[in-house]
Amino acid sequence: MKSPAKNKEIYLDHASATPIDPVVFEAVRESMELAFANPGAVHELGLEAKEILEASRRGVAEVLGAHTDEIIFTSGATESNNLAIAGVVASYREKSLPHIVTTNIEHASVLETCRMLERTKQAHVTYVPVEPTGIVDPKKIKKALRPDTVLVSVMYANNEIGTVQPVREIAKEIRHYRKHKKKDQGYPLFHTDAVQAANYLPLAVEKLGIDLLSLNGAKIYGSKSVGVLFVKRRTPIARIMEGGDQENKLRPGTENIALAVGMALALRSMESMKEKETKRLTALRDYFFKKLIALSPRIIANGDRENRLPNNVNITVSKIPSDLLIIELSARGIYASAKSACKSGDGKASHVIEAIRPGTSETDGSLRFSLGRVTTKADIDAAVRAMSAILAKLDRWYT
Ligand code: PLP
Repeated sequence: MKSPAKNKEIYLDHASATPIDPVVFEAVRESMELAFANPGAVHELGLEAKEILEASRRGVAEVLGAHTDEIIFTSGATESNNLAIAGVVASYREKSLPHIVTTNIEHASVLETCRMLERTKQAHVTYVPVEPTGIVDPKKIKKALRPDTVLVSVMYANNEIGTVQPVREIAKEIRHYRKHKKKDQGYPLFHTDAVQAANYLPLAVEKLGIDLLSLNGAKIYGSKSVGVLFVKRRTPIARIMEGGDQENKLRPGTENIALAVGMALALRSMESMKEKETKRLTALRDYFFKKLIALSPRIIANGDRENRLPNNVNITVSKIPSDLLIIELSARGIYASAKSACKSGDGKASHVIEAIRPGTSETDGSLRFSLGRVTTKADIDAAVRAMSAILAKLDRWYT
């Protein structure tokens, strides 16, 4: 497979997947080869494997400012989100059904888990709509809380439009609600899906005031199929898969040491670049938006322009479908996407765009450009030129 960087192709789809950091790749390869023993085994090789796994756990805990026993390795953020939500519901022992509060722009791994819990009559769910900016109002979250609310799940930053959610304010509202509840059982808990935020926003869990936090390796220049769920000590949560006692009895199955090693390394290297990359990409993002909007009155920016991830540029191009724009860009060596990769190609309009702009027609295509470590100003200029050529070509056919 060609490497986009080597062939001057321009990869602007980092929100879908990031390339693996070569240092991470080498560490994963080496661990796969050498630390192959089962960390549950009591012989010397097993103990060595266990020590490598625990060192990785310490590495992750350090980045989050957490205790090592609060770090659960999973197969990715889908599993982390499922475990956080279904696990909290599974541990609930009252006779009445528990209640969950979330938003209408969450990732499918949160929304579909909530819908499954509703369908199977395990929980009631309130989906709080976000504002037209793509940001949820913490007061609306507060208003949705009920005595039977066990969990609030609000993503840290959205994967399609990059809007950053006010998680600290929401945490504050939840803490206040907990304190004034008649019977304080520690509910509601607060979960955040921090997958897209991780590269650019602070992750110190204590300061954020959250109980559960999901991460994955695929978006932070680590490997795919590895994730983390931070579970604050004393959080009422039950396992949702049966098997062995691994991962603090919450996630059965033989641990994937190599991917855990990669996850810890990727997080550490991400932290070391966070400040510089945030500054660099924010400037590139704003430049990109300005150039795109100047191209045509068809182009509208999606989501709040300030409170958004530094690498996210999301636009709607009126009357031209997303897939056509993506194919035209791809033919010019520019790789972007429309919505979440796991929902692309289903022929439906994005639920996130629909949430911020109700009644959006499927023919008003949205485009997500997500920048990354290799993105330069020259790449942005090339993408703008390509968009200009595409609009010139399609303009008279799509009116
Ligand atoms: N949450 C968000 C916000 C995401 O962007 C993604 C991946 O696109 C996920 C969860 C799911 O991650 P994974 O594919 O690693 O399970």
